[in-house]
Amino acid sequence: MIVSTPAFVLKSFDLRETSKIAVFYTRDDGKVKGILKGIRKDPHKFGSRLGCASLNHIVYYKSRSSEIHLVGQCDLIDDFFTPRRDLRETAVVHLALELVDCLMPLEDPNRPVFDLLFEFLNVLDAGAGERLATVFQIKMLALSGFKPHFDACCVCDARIRTGCTFSHKKGGVLCSRCAPHDPGAEAVYPGTISTVLYLERHGLRPGMRLGMHARVRRQLGAMLERFMRFHVGRRLKSERVLQQILDLSRPVC
Ligand SMILES: [Zn+2]
Repeated sequence: MIVSTPAFVLKSFDLRETSKIAVFYTRDDGKVKGILKGIRKDPHKFGSRLGCASLNHIVYYKSRSSEIHLVGQCDLIDDFFTPRRDLRETAVVHLALELVDCLMPLEDPNRPVFDLLFEFLNVLDAGAGERLATVFQIKMLALSGFKPHFDACCVCDARIRTGCTFSHKKGGVLCSRCAPHDPGAEAVYPGTISTVLYLERHGLRPGMRLGMHARVRRQLGAMLERFMRFHVGRRLKSERVLQQILDLSRPVC
């Protein structure tokens, strides 16, 4: 079967002397792995250099026996990212791509994830690093099925008022009565809960305009990092790099 679809490049790596393997996020088929034979030997064989986060039009032949499909055509539509130089921006883009790669299963179409990536790359600008990373992570978790529950207690479904905690193990907030279900759960500011709920229900652009108290932003960042580590089983490499870049760019007091 031949598939023809727009696709973002999540990552790519060399295969032997002549070829490359690319991991795409496609509009029609979700995450797809493909081999581009001969691309290293003849860079003009394909109309794309497989830049990170570039949007391409690909045509591939679906293999029945392998999860890696043969890509016959790959033409660049838009290279969102290559001309940018800002370090924070680069780290945020890599975090978004790594998140999509590790949260999404192969060949499970999810158009909202494709649309989110498209919107993310369009709103990217030099000043939006840390905030965009947080907003993107929350939207991505909501779309991928890993969504932490913030709208009600994840044990008894009671409405959350005040004094709740967040449990990575249970995957959401616990009301004060259910808190003993996870003694390791952490106290959460009411502002953190309302911020997550707002971001889940609105697009990236309104999310970027939302006023976020510094302590809420810090708590959200730490919670997301621990939540991902618990569910993915490791800290994301790009998240660690982004944190190092942000630490370096903060003024020393
Ligand atoms: Zn409860």
